[in-house]
Amino acid sequence: MKHKKIQLVMMWFLPIIVIGGLFFPVLGYLVIGMMAFFLPLAFFKGRYWCWNLCPRGSFLDIVMSRCSSGKALPVFILKGWGRIVVLSLALFMSILIFSIIKKGGNFLIIGAIFVAICLGTTIVSIILALLTRHRSWCAICPMGKAQSRISKLNKKNR
Ligand code: SF4
Repeated sequence: MKHKKIQLVMMWFLPIIVIGGLFFPVLGYLVIGMMAFFLPLAFFKGRYWCWNLCPRGSFLDIVMSRCSSGKALPVFILKGWGRIVVLSLALFMSILIFSIIKKGGNFLIIGAIFVAICLGTTIVSIILALLTRHRSWCAICPMGKAQSRISKLNKKNR
């Protein structure tokens, strides 16, 4: 599996967030910072972030590609279960955001929530990579789908 040199650097943000974030929840703000970067970027460059810079995508390319079974992601996961995961995540995030607003917002709790979401989705991505192709998670990742949608808003990308 070919990967880019920049991915070797970006990959390290994943353990920094999902392991370091367990001890320092403020690291969850790195996720917010990355989202603030790649969502506008998607308008101009499509899914450039996904294939070049995403820490989890880089980890999947560099590490998980070596131990992936390489099997295709079953259609029922792609169409059915995948949608349920994405919808559950959207519902989960909406409830969290609502409760954060209701409690007046807490700097560390907000960081911890983003660490938890990143950790949970990373575990799912590793299981999928072991059982199927290493980038299977990227086929159902809400952030990947958001970038695709934003990219289509730009006529040049259609
Ligand atoms: S689809 Fe999601 S996990 Fe995969 S590279 Fe894009 S943002 Fe990262």
